[in-house]
Amino acid sequence: MGVISSQPAPVAESRAAADDGGERRVELLSQRYFLENIARWQLANLLPLALIALCNLGRPGFGLTLWIVAANAACMAAMGGVCARLRTHDDPPAQHRLWHLYQGMAFVSGALWASLMLPVATTLGKDIASTFVCVIIIATVSVTSMVIATRRNGFIAFGAGFFAVLLPQTLWFIDVIGPIPLIATVFFIPALWSLAKAVYTQDRSLIRTQLEKEDLAAELTRALERAEYLATRDSLTGLYNRRAFEQVAQSLRAASDSGPISLILIDLDHFKAINDQHGHACGDCVLQKAAELILETVRPVDVLGRGDSAVARWGGEEFLLLLPECSLPMAVLVAERLRQRLARLTDPSWPPHLKVSGSFGVACWRPEVTLHHCINEADQAMYRAKQGGRNRVVAGQGAKLEAPAPGDESARTATG
Ligand code: GH3
Ligand code: MG
Ligand code: MG
Repeated sequence: MGVISSQPAPVAESRAAADDGGERRVELLSQRYFLENIARWQLANLLPLALIALCNLGRPGFGLTLWIVAANAACMAAMGGVCARLRTHDDPPAQHRLWHLYQGMAFVSGALWASLMLPVATTLGKDIASTFVCVIIIATVSVTSMVIATRRNGFIAFGAGFFAVLLPQTLWFIDVIGPIPLIATVFFIPALWSLAKAVYTQDRSLIRTQLEKEDLAAELTRALERAEYLATRDSLTGLYNRRAFEQVAQSLRAASDSGPISLILIDLDHFKAINDQHGHACGDCVLQKAAELILETVRPVDVLGRGDSAVARWGGEEFLLLLPECSLPMAVLVAERLRQRLARLTDPSWPPHLKVSGSFGVACWRPEVTLHHCINEADQAMYRAKQGGRNRVVAGQGAKLEAPAPGDESARTATG
C-alpha cells in the first residue's frame, strides 16, 4: 500500500508560522475589543465638546467654535458608523478599506481638536475660560490617544492631525503667547507616544494571556475527553471495555422502557490455534479486523447515545453486542449475517489459508432479569454453538428462527 509522505516543515519555520497565527489571533481579538468599546468613548467625547462651546459663550470666536464643535461631533459620529460597519464586515479587503477610512477620519478629528484652540489662541493665559478650553482639549486628546492606542495606525493618524494643526498655531501666535506653548507642544509628542506604547504593550500582553488560558482550557478538555475515551475502550480494538459496556447497556435499558433488547455473544473459533500457527501479532490483527467487521455491520452507540447497538470486547477473543429495539428473531438474523461475513473475513497481510469463524450465542434481555443473567444465557447458547460444531448461531429459548439460506452450506442456525 502506497503511503503519501510529505517533507516535514523545518522546526523553526513551523514555529514561526505558529507564532504568526498566534499574533494574528491576538490582533483580531484586540481589534474586536476596540470596536466593541469605541462607540461609548466617542459618545463621551460630546461632553468636553459641549464644555468648550460653553466656555466660548459670548466670546468673539463663539461662531467659529460652534462650527468646529459641530464638525468634530459629525466626524466622530461618522467614525462610529465606520466602526459599526467594521464589526459586521468579515471580508478582508472591505475591512482594509474601512480601516483606512477610519484613519482618515481620526486625522480630521485630531486636526479639529487642535483647531478648537484657535478661537482662544490670542487670549491664552489671559483669562480663565481660555485656559479652561486649553486644558479640556489637552486632557481629551490625551485620553482619546490612550483609548485608541491599541489601533496603532488610528492613534498615529489622530496624533498627526492634532499636531499638524497645533504646531503651526503655536508658531503663528508665538509673538502673543510666547515660546512656552511651542515647547510644551513639542514635548507633548514623545510623552503621548510613550504612554500610547505602554497601553499598546499592555493590551497585547493581556490578550495573549487570555488566549493562552483559553488554549490551556481547550487542551484540558481534549485531554479529559481522551482520558474518558481510553477509560472506556479496549486498547487493541477500540471497542467498549466491560465496564463501559455495562454502563451503556444499563442506560439503553432505562431508555428503552420495556422494548425488546437482544444480546449476541461471539467467541472466535480455535483462536489459540491461530496464535500458535501464525503468531500473536497475527492473532491481534484478526481481533482488530473482526472488531471492524462487527462495527461495519451494526451502528454502535456513541457517548451521546446515538446509534443502535453497543459493542464490547468482552474477553480475549469474545465480543458482546447489545441491540436495543431488536427482538430475538431479528437478533438471530443479525448474528447470522455477521457469522457469514466473519467466515469470509480475509486480509492481504494474512497467510492465505488462515480461516476465521465464530460461534454465536443470542439471548433476549427481558426487563425482569439482570444484564448478567442475560449474558449468561447468551454464553450458554454460545457454548452450545461450540458443542454443535462451531461456526454457527444458537439462540436462547423462545426464538422463532428463519431457516438458513438454501445452498449456504456454511450457514448454521439453531434454537437452544
Ligand atoms: P474455542 O473454539 O473453543 O473458542 O477455542 P479457542 O482456541 O478460541 O479458545 P481458547 O479459550 O482455548 O483460547 C483463546 C485464546 O485467545 C487464548 C489466548 O492466548 C488468546 N488471546 C486472548 N487475548 C488475546 C489477545 O489480545 N491477542 C491474541 N493474539 N490472542 C489472545
Ligand atoms: Mg473464549
Ligand atoms: Mg474461542
